[in-house]
Amino acid sequence: MERVLIHIHGIVQGVGFRPFIHKQVRAYRLAGTIKNTSSGVELELEGEREELERFIADLPHKAPKLAVIERVETAFSPELKHFSDFQILQSKTEAQRNTLISPDIGICDDCLRELLDPADRRYRYPFINCTNCGPRFTIIKDVPYDRAKTSMSEFPMCPDCDREYHDIENRRYHAQPDCCPDCGPHVFYLDAAGDPVPGDAIELARGALRAGKIVAIKGLGGIHLACRCDEPEIARTLRRRKQRDEKPFAVMCRDAACARTICEVSAEEEALLTSFRRPIVLLKKRERGAYAHLSENNYIGVMLPYTPLHVLLFGDDIDMLVMTSANLSDTPIVYRNDEATEKLRGIADGFLLHNREIQTRCDDSLCYCLGGEAYFARRSRGYVPFPVSIHEDAGMSLACGAEQKASFCLSKGNYVFPSQHIGDLKNIETLENYERQIRHFEKLFDIRPAAIACDLHPDYLSTAYAVERSEEEKIPLIRVQHHHAHMAACMADNALSGEVIGLVWDGTGYGTDGTTWGGECLIGGYDGFTRVGSIRPIPLVGGDLVTKEPLRAAWALKRCAGLPASDENGALYETMLQNGLNCPLSSGMGRLFDGVSAMIGVKTRCSYEGQGAILLEAAATADGGLYPAAWEDENGLLRFDWREMIRAIVADQSRGLDRGVIAARFMNTLVDMGVRQCLFAREKSGLERVVLSGGSFQNMYMMHRLPAALTAAGFAVYRHRRVSANDEGISLGQLMIARAAAERK
Ligand code: ZN
Ligand code: ZN
Ligand code: FE
Repeated sequence: MERVLIHIHGIVQGVGFRPFIHKQVRAYRLAGTIKNTSSGVELELEGEREELERFIADLPHKAPKLAVIERVETAFSPELKHFSDFQILQSKTEAQRNTLISPDIGICDDCLRELLDPADRRYRYPFINCTNCGPRFTIIKDVPYDRAKTSMSEFPMCPDCDREYHDIENRRYHAQPDCCPDCGPHVFYLDAAGDPVPGDAIELARGALRAGKIVAIKGLGGIHLACRCDEPEIARTLRRRKQRDEKPFAVMCRDAACARTICEVSAEEEALLTSFRRPIVLLKKRERGAYAHLSENNYIGVMLPYTPLHVLLFGDDIDMLVMTSANLSDTPIVYRNDEATEKLRGIADGFLLHNREIQTRCDDSLCYCLGGEAYFARRSRGYVPFPVSIHEDAGMSLACGAEQKASFCLSKGNYVFPSQHIGDLKNIETLENYERQIRHFEKLFDIRPAAIACDLHPDYLSTAYAVERSEEEKIPLIRVQHHHAHMAACMADNALSGEVIGLVWDGTGYGTDGTTWGGECLIGGYDGFTRVGSIRPIPLVGGDLVTKEPLRAAWALKRCAGLPASDENGALYETMLQNGLNCPLSSGMGRLFDGVSAMIGVKTRCSYEGQGAILLEAAATADGGLYPAAWEDENGLLRFDWREMIRAIVADQSRGLDRGVIAARFMNTLVDMGVRQCLFAREKSGLERVVLSGGSFQNMYMMHRLPAALTAAGFAVYRHRRVSANDEGISLGQLMIARAAAERK
């Protein structure tokens, strides 16, 4: 007989780990104790040496599916304590917290079965959950993860639930949010004025939805606005009320088969849709141009029900619903009951709410399925706050991200904790939430940053936050160039070190020369970079206005290409250009997209970021053609001169060529341009690895062609896998660059 102390580090709390251990302990005829510590769990066991060793060896491959075992430490001792049984000891708070927290988990099959079983005591109970599913991150106030430190603290367990909670054989054993109709939260329905309506809340909501009403429905990380999808007029009403004129709506489908009636769903996409993370997956419409009232491009964002309440909304009469975040354009998602009835007055015709508080806002995740995996546009619910592990020890740092697609990340050793989707910091409530979430993450993961990284842009509100904290708390600040951060983010995402070629294409980022960059080819690594390729700068007549009025970019592109540019404001633009009045230069790839999109009549006014580029992608039809490209060398910086291409586009247009073909040829030209820039960079540096980052790489037309073209040219190509290619992902890169800077010192 021997005694062993086992420390298991990783995601082992709130994932059914203790009951699993209990069963294993019995199977191996051992005795001892288990307790949650702030870095995982600690086991003290006694038994025969051989059995103890088998027990330890079996841990990794027998653990529950949600558990992530990062490290197991063991210490054997001949001194026995003579345990007679197996006991769970009370959690203790340690100074050095290192616990990982589970994201929220979509309803599991066992709970689904009980939910729909009339004989079950939780039949149709919308808060059914177990150790394998239910709310986590969005209800946790503090660690260690215990009911008392969640939104469930107000709901003392009834004797039945308490028995299950303490029964090692039960699948709700130590499920912190466990509850039932007798002891748990309840749903209620309010009318448009916020007054309670008596009756079955879920049936009232279903009736309203069937009747074409817009209903606010409380989910896991916030409130959605739901309505029928089959009536364009209802969707239009929702758009009008929400002031969301054109941005696509996500749809919740009863199941994958139902999703298949409107979209193409591959086996891989179905696996992603039904995974416990339940992201919104961007699926290609079966029929081009269909469901224009839901989405103006070729994709529809589809998700499946992920809470029991969602499941109960569906039936033979309702198989699909619009499910869009409840907020007014650009404000954070509404998540509290009082806030809902106040802010959604005039938007929602009814409210299906409940009395379990959402502690933390968390929007739905949004991704494409690329190469069988999630390719994120937004990494949020179901993923956050799982860390992204990196190949180097980053110590404790904070990286503040960008501004419009704000996110931050905090590191601790080899873990980086990227935040959930935050939104546009220019909105004051969003900024407040950003600051609150940084503090919340610092508390949950016990991180006191020793370095802060931010964007080089002096006017970003995330930069202002970083500067303020750095000054107040005397923490060193590292300012990181935007595209360098993108490149480093994609490197870290793929565990790359050393030097690479970075193809970084996006809308806008502050350059080291004070101008706006965005169509960049860089070489370098975490330590620094050299800009080797870009595009000929475009004068932005009217500055930022160009993003909303892309005809201004179209005018500038034509004007610079020496073509007659007919625009009613042409004379004004000419004066501005001649006199350099509010005409900053930009090498942003996004501006080239917007400009061409407007020029060929795809989109002439944009109501949301990237719209012109998204619709250009949607308009493209298959065509292998290319436009001519010219190059200019500016002291070793190779610039793509788009003037030849613009002249060819205008010529195609004037001979009446279909704009779908023009759109395809334009993007083919960019793919070719990307390859040529990388060839130039390789010639210069000998580097063969290419990382692709920036918002332009959320264009699936490009993502299905550029990596293949680069691979054919002999490059090793890396794209984002665990964080977004857009600005949401750059905090990871900022952090890696800050870490490298700290190491040099
Ligand atoms: Zn469950
Ligand atoms: Zn109960
Ligand atoms: Fe960017």
